[in-house]
Amino acid sequence: MPDSGSVRTEDALIASRSYESGKHKEGKSSSYNFDGKAQETLADTHLDLDRKMSRFPGNYGPVIELQVLEGSLYVAYSSFGVQIFSLLDTSSEAMARYSSSCLHCMTVAKLKGCTTLVTGLGGKLSFCDTQKQPRELDQVSFDMGTPVKCLLMLEHIIYVGLATGEISVFDTKKMTETDRFICCDHPIHCLAPAQEGSSKLLCVSSQDGTILIVNAHTSLPLRILTGHTKTSFSLQVDGPFVYSGSGDSCVIIHNLHTGVVEHSIHDNQGLVKTVCYNNGFLFTGGMDRLVRCYDTKTRKLVQVYYGAERGVITKIFVYNNMLITGNITGAVDCVELDVKAKHRCHKGCKLKFGNRSHLFWHLLEDHNITTMT
Ligand SMILES: [Zn+2]
Repeated sequence: MPDSGSVRTEDALIASRSYESGKHKEGKSSSYNFDGKAQETLADTHLDLDRKMSRFPGNYGPVIELQVLEGSLYVAYSSFGVQIFSLLDTSSEAMARYSSSCLHCMTVAKLKGCTTLVTGLGGKLSFCDTQKQPRELDQVSFDMGTPVKCLLMLEHIIYVGLATGEISVFDTKKMTETDRFICCDHPIHCLAPAQEGSSKLLCVSSQDGTILIVNAHTSLPLRILTGHTKTSFSLQVDGPFVYSGSGDSCVIIHNLHTGVVEHSIHDNQGLVKTVCYNNGFLFTGGMDRLVRCYDTKTRKLVQVYYGAERGVITKIFVYNNMLITGNITGAVDCVELDVKAKHRCHKGCKLKFGNRSHLFWHLLEDHNITTMT
């Protein structure tokens, strides 16, 4: 898995520029100055503003996973399957497509040197070597006896979260399930890795809103993180902090080691579907269509972006200096991440956008402003 740090690489720029160049009229955007006097009217940009273009458009249904491996973007859609796109050129066409109408979860990994799609297809844990034919997700499948809800790959072990509240431990070297244990009484929605001293831990989101901390080797439960009133759909861990976004519209920061709620964020309006930690920043997204970017040291909101096609956000992934978002209708977009940019709305809500076009859209849609005076 390539590092997803903040280094701005050429391929990240190519990908974001290819989108930007298709979106703007040449030379137009430089004449706007929202911190001072606007030089032109927003009406002049109507063509741009009305276009809901994204880098990888399409009506494929909800995006449930985004991952990058070796310059390729792997996108999983719950009712469509998996598509692979190149981030190294400007094409919006998929390089490969794998159909499935019952995809619950996906991860991509190098297994025995081969790029392999690991998926939960209904009640099956399936493996697909992307170099092999036929191009089907279930080239090799294992019946788990209950719906597979989520996957977490740590080295050669896949932890499989199941609808029964069990976790299956699957060894990809032996290609067999080596353990299965009951974790909770409810379906498991997501898993995240954590570390305590020399012990590897699993953070497990249960449908009842709790987050369980489990020793990955012994499967012993260590503690329960409470605070959410609805299911956490997304978990991220950085050092001692567990970040969770939930159906209760809230993002909570727990201390992994003590279980204490360190901080909670109530900015989101509606369900929080995805949280993404990257290099000192936490990104959240969901029903209210805004990606919020927080500084994890100050815990302050730094800036906001729109997600793909200004739709409901289902997945956020940060790769190099690129903010990648997937939405509920199947569009995926990439924009260059600029955490220092502050395109401020002066119309009362004081939102600071990380992208100039996103501020235009906000003024147009939320404030009904078509002319700057
Ligand atoms: Zn505003």
